[in-house]
Amino acid sequence: MGANRHMSVDSRGRYTPEAAGEVMSGTEGPAGSRSHNLISTRRVSLMQEPVLVLNATYEPINVTAVRRAMVLMLKGVAQAEEMHNTEVHSAAHAHRVPSVIRLLAYRHIPQQSRALSRKNILLRDRNTCQFCVRVFPSSELTLDHVVPRSRGGRSSWENLVACCYRCNNSKGDRTPEEAGLKLARRPRPFTLHTSRQLMRLIGHRDERWRKYLFY
Ligand SMILES: [Zn+2]
Repeated sequence: MGANRHMSVDSRGRYTPEAAGEVMSGTEGPAGSRSHNLISTRRVSLMQEPVLVLNATYEPINVTAVRRAMVLMLKGVAQAEEMHNTEVHSAAHAHRVPSVIRLLAYRHIPQQSRALSRKNILLRDRNTCQFCVRVFPSSELTLDHVVPRSRGGRSSWENLVACCYRCNNSKGDRTPEEAGLKLARRPRPFTLHTSRQLMRLIGHRDERWRKYLFY
């Protein structure tokens, strides 16, 4: 289950925005058509609200959307641990909206379960160009090989960083030192620790997450 989908490179050597190596990808069905019928999608924005996903052991492992969380609950894969005071209605039932869910069966999370993908590198670097340290929308960022591929630089977590087009152009086929650029920080693999930091950021607005994240 959950074989990571890896970064793919097209014929011109660019990275294609491949789907994320989300830790929950193993439970993803064909996107949403079934859940569409189960849950009224009148309140679309509510259905997109983030839900914290805990392993069976209460360890936080992911963030998903209310809509996915409710599908997991209806399938008996997860149960709600914390709820919002709002309800959504399907044809026959009212469902309270989850804020935190827990998987009923333990899921083994490999130490580096995050697939090397454009999306995950932008996530790791928080959409910040690692040279000029400015934040950009994903569409205005590319991936830069710190050590250029022409010099044997690999496509790895340690050698790929988010980079705006301007910095990418001025760097060209050179190392940062040669181009007079400085990395904001040393690129590292996206670990579970990194994911927890991100979950904390996302979880800031929901008090119900606190006791699971700040431990
Ligand atoms: Zn830049």
